[in-house]
Amino acid sequence: MTRMTPLLERNEQFARDYTPVALGLPTAQVLVVTCLDHRVDPAIVLGLKLAEAPVIRNAGGRVTQPVIEDIAYLAFLAEQLFAGQLAADKLFEVAVIHHTQCGTGLLDDPGFRHQAAAATGRSEAALEASAVVDPHITVKADVERLLTSPLLSPKVSVAGHVYDIATGRVTTTVPARYPQPPRP
Ligand SMILES: [Zn+2]
Repeated sequence: MTRMTPLLERNEQFARDYTPVALGLPTAQVLVVTCLDHRVDPAIVLGLKLAEAPVIRNAGGRVTQPVIEDIAYLAFLAEQLFAGQLAADKLFEVAVIHHTQCGTGLLDDPGFRHQAAAATGRSEAALEASAVVDPHITVKADVERLLTSPLLSPKVSVAGHVYDIATGRVTTTVPARYPQPPRP
């Protein structure tokens, strides 16, 4: 008996009624970037079903360089494998979702940050930049970061949302838009 035992029993239930899903386009045509916080599970909060949307999660739901690279790869994959099934100019929409009461917000405190730097091996500056203190501000910054990345496909739109832990409600703070085409 380990901590996983009850979860493996749930998986047994799941597998009983399971129908395999072939690799294909995510049916919601949305890619979610959000926090790894166990109170912010997009499958539950957004009612996502299997094969509806890829989800990238990290502390805070921040648009880091590895996240940008994953999104670039998924756009590449969609174009390579499913070009015929897609509208010529559209691949998917990225929904960046930050949330209230985020645990990364504690990194705003210099003393806490100093200790966290020792524990994680990350610099205090990097930890400070990763903190979600006001999700409305950080989600806007992260949407901009993604939209201005040269790695983002012009066929991918990006929007920003905030999930309120107190109400369970997701509010759109930055409406979806496509990156600006490069200036001639
Ligand atoms: Zn969080």
